[in-house]
Amino acid sequence: MDYDVLILGGGIVGCAVAYELSKYSLNIALIEKEYDIANDVALINSSVVYDGVECETTLLSRLESMGNSIIRNIASKFNINFSKKGYLVLSDNESSEEELNKLYNRALDRGIKNIYLLNQKETLKIEPNLNTKVRKSIYSKNVGIISPYDLAISYGEIAFDNGVNFKLEEEVLDIQSMSKGFKVVTNKNKFTCSVVLNTTPKENYSIDNINMASIKKGYINYFLIENIGNRYNNNSVISALEKNNGRIYIIPTDNNGLMVEITTNSKISYEDGLQIIKKYIGEIDENNINIFYESRYYNDDNIIDDSLIDKGYIKVIEKHRGQITMTPAISKIVCETIVNNLKCIPKKDFIDKRREFYRFRDMTNDKRKEIIKLNKKYGKIVCYCEKVTEGEIIDAIRRPLGARTIEGIKRRTGATFGNCRGAQCLYKVSSILSRETNKNMTDIVKNSKNSKIILGRIKEFDEI
Ligand SMILES: Cc1cc2nc3c(=O)[nH]c(=O)nc-3n(C[C@H](O)[C@H](O)[C@H](O)COP(=O)(O)OP(=O)(O)OC[C@H]3O[C@@H](n4cnc5c(N)ncnc54)[C@H](O)[C@@H]3O)c2cc1C
Repeated sequence: MDYDVLILGGGIVGCAVAYELSKYSLNIALIEKEYDIANDVALINSSVVYDGVECETTLLSRLESMGNSIIRNIASKFNINFSKKGYLVLSDNESSEEELNKLYNRALDRGIKNIYLLNQKETLKIEPNLNTKVRKSIYSKNVGIISPYDLAISYGEIAFDNGVNFKLEEEVLDIQSMSKGFKVVTNKNKFTCSVVLNTTPKENYSIDNINMASIKKGYINYFLIENIGNRYNNNSVISALEKNNGRIYIIPTDNNGLMVEITTNSKISYEDGLQIIKKYIGEIDENNINIFYESRYYNDDNIIDDSLIDKGYIKVIEKHRGQITMTPAISKIVCETIVNNLKCIPKKDFIDKRREFYRFRDMTNDKRKEIIKLNKKYGKIVCYCEKVTEGEIIDAIRRPLGARTIEGIKRRTGATFGNCRGAQCLYKVSSILSRETNKNMTDIVKNSKNSKIILGRIKEFDEI
């Protein structure tokens, strides 16, 4: 066999399972069709680490609770910022109050701790500027915010350092069952392996045909609102029950803004979304809406499918809007299943540490000076909005599984993600990437093959 385990898909789940399995003596490869890992973890992800209160089923709730407690531990181990937030689920009418009482009692039955049923006065003490006539709320102290991309990339980097073979820009075309193990056919190779973990969403392969009609989908509308002033304590994530099983989630961002997510069963317009938001936070200046987009979302409830594990096939292709939270739990369960199946032993030389990196915007001046003395590139700011230095961009490219695209650099460092959306620094970032990877500027891409930053030369200069 070429590999003991092949992980298909380098999203957060694939990377987390690669990390867990890299603790064992196994020959593992991960195949990802894009230039980078974690490419599909939406940048505008709500980034909320939930606690299981609102999950539809007890199993999903357990996965969220377990994932929540693991994330708190690994955030400090991986040096990722985890910011604790309160979480308020609001009701503002009789029917949603009934629903809220049911949610609260169900959460108590599930054994979820640190949750409280608050009346109007108690709720307004926590968020005094709520615009809606709240009747009751559930208040939870278990929730937090984490960068899902940082989490995914940390899992990937450590897995890479512990021997997992990452095959990027390689697309899986088929998975075929053999008398012993599997054949995985890609656009570049054919591999054999004993176990397949498939995380590529909703793809059809010989081994299993997916019935697309059975997939539950809803709509999700995102608004990124800036300069919200002191209208919020900015300490709580707010969720409220809307009409027809809809939900609104209001999530404070680090820079005095709000990310608002409205989930609905049927399509709504930008104006409908705006009206729903105003109900909770009052009038907003539309000039402060920096980003708006609509996408589809899944709310599957059968996340881990190991019904073919006797053959060696597991799939985690179903999606849930709390799946980042669940990922650490999912990866431990999947790893345990595979380890039991292959009867393998833990590695003695596993290194559970992410290579060091610097984030200049979060450092004290003394610390900055110390690092600039060692490497002058850290003294040169490239992205003024997000205060990202050349040193950080070079490190993002040279690290294990380093960035090869502008999007990869943005996700690792924040460069080009500021208010000017890269107007000031995009070309500087592209030129560092072209220099570091020894490519022409005309070959630098945003995130995929057909997304070139510069389409061609218009004059024959020696350098661009
Ligand atoms: C809008 C939105 C907001 C969310 N907010 C939250 C939140 O606040 N909190 C939370 O806990 N969760 C949240 N989630 C859930 C979470 O972001 C996703 O469910 C999670 O990222 C899914 O990760 P994954 O690894 O399973 O799948 P993916 O990220 O989709 O990874 C699958 C990977 O497989 C690759 N791939 C696909 N086909 C092939 C192929 N043929 N060959 C090779 N590679 C292939 C893809 O390129 C991709 O990298 C949100 C989801 C959405 C959509």
